[in-house]
Amino acid sequence: MKNIILLKVITLFYLLSSTFLIAHSTKKKKSLKSHEHGVGVLNIAQEGNILLFEFEIPGADIVGFEYVAESNDDKKKVEDALKILSNHKNMIVLPASAECSNIKNEVKVINEGKHSEFIANYKISCNQLDSLKRVYVKYFKNFELSKKLNIKIFGKNKKSAYVIDSSKKIINVKNHF
Ligand SMILES: [Zn+2]
Repeated sequence: MKNIILLKVITLFYLLSSTFLIAHSTKKKKSLKSHEHGVGVLNIAQEGNILLFEFEIPGADIVGFEYVAESNDDKKKVEDALKILSNHKNMIVLPASAECSNIKNEVKVINEGKHSEFIANYKISCNQLDSLKRVYVKYFKNFELSKKLNIKIFGKNKKSAYVIDSSKKIINVKNHF
């Protein structure tokens, strides 16, 4: 009996540690080294009547370099980019009919070795979320080095994933929220 319990404990421990390993490797997978230059990530998640837009974009797509900015020119490029990113309307526009208002915008740039990424999070509350059918993409227009967006939508009613290129200006979110 004691042995069985011990075995159970060991199995549980093993499961926990393998879960930990999976979590760890997932995290490692998110390392900036694995991002693809030219391809940004946009996750759209729903929490009740709130939408979270999370952009993760390689520095190469935003400012054209990924080293830590040191010259005044490069610092200005990063500063200007963060300014553009800090207004969600420069990235995405929601139709007026959805009656959305912005709650919070957060932007930052992270550096890791030879790579960097710009992270922009927008928290937007919508009164008529169920009527939201499309999201307009302004991102490509404001960052001309960008080429693609890898989009994942986690809606209450529907989840989807697709990749759009800079010629596409609309994300179809019909029936998602
Ligand atoms: Zn990179």
